[in-house]
Amino acid sequence: MAETFTAVVIEDVDGRARTAFRQLALADLPDLDVLVEVAYSTLNYKDGLALSGNRNKVARKLPMVAGIDLAGTIVESRSPDWKAGQPVIVNGWGLSETQWGGYTRYQRVKAEWLVALPAAFSLAQAMAIGTAGYTAALCVDALERWGSLASGAGEFLVTGAAGGVGSVATALLAARGCHVVASTGRPDTHDYLRQLGARDFVTREQLAAKGGPLQKERWTAAIDSVGSTTLANVLAQTVYGGAVAACGLAGGMDLPATVLPHILRSVALLGVDSVMAPAAARARAWSRLARDLDPARLAALTTVEPMSRLPQLAEEILAGRIRGRVVIDVQR
Ligand code: NDP
Repeated sequence: MAETFTAVVIEDVDGRARTAFRQLALADLPDLDVLVEVAYSTLNYKDGLALSGNRNKVARKLPMVAGIDLAGTIVESRSPDWKAGQPVIVNGWGLSETQWGGYTRYQRVKAEWLVALPAAFSLAQAMAIGTAGYTAALCVDALERWGSLASGAGEFLVTGAAGGVGSVATALLAARGCHVVASTGRPDTHDYLRQLGARDFVTREQLAAKGGPLQKERWTAAIDSVGSTTLANVLAQTVYGGAVAACGLAGGMDLPATVLPHILRSVALLGVDSVMAPAAARARAWSRLARDLDPARLAALTTVEPMSRLPQLAEEILAGRIRGRVVIDVQR
């Protein structure tokens, strides 16, 4: 085992959050039950925020090892539930917020945060999914529980479609036979999104402009990772009895909407959180991913980058320039 290893650490420098590559030893890691040798982490929008210096509102105590996801192999375990050699993943649970995260060769984590790597996936594939992909699966679950997938009829909207959540949501809905309409601000991603299963497109601008409280009914259901005016318009365009699963704020955290879609059309706004989602919801989401996410589509939406490029990648995801999902190889 290496004596020291590289980690991406957010530090307090004169009252400002700064990100640096630091050498850590095992003795520096938190005293938690399971030591994992990390193979891969990922890049999510929240990672971009965490690494973005003075815009950082993610890491709530410093120093903080960044990275909200990790996948690797257990080296040591004090928990009877887990043993050395098992491949595992962690998504959320406050990693990079209040708990040290995945941008490191080794990390210690709580036993109850671990999910056994699903047999369908390699460690790299599990991180190609990562928090963004597993959140997309939670959103599809929410719509299914509401009843929106029962007939599969009509049009299903995905906003922020070329991003991480959006790409996996598009692939999962298409796999269920839904007619997916992708909303993107990047026309050059249309071929990519068609490859994932999108059949039609609306522009980002069409949904971002302020609209009326009740608009022409179009969407059987929607998955929204944008928030703000976009979410308000999506709710106003959802059919009677339809539902919108909302998980993100890439366009803003406000919601300038009225109650009319809810009280006149019985439209449901289903909130989706991945960080503290209970184990049963995680298990359902990972089963869905194993069943419905075609490996060729997963490969099409994935790129692998070395950890050394994280500072640039963080800027790119906040600028909306990342397509699909980025796996971070923590050993490079
Ligand atoms: P990405 O950056 O990969 O995707 C976001 C996408 O949103 C972009 O690719 C872009 O899509 C679109 N977008 C970006 N900026 C704007 C803007 N100003 N207005 C409208 N659309 C915009 O991020 P992730 O997929 O990792 O995360 C998406 C959102 O979901 C984030 O807000 C994130 O915090 C949230 N999230 C929440 C989780 C939860 O537990 N609730 C878990 C995971 C993510 P395009 O180019 O196609 O228009």
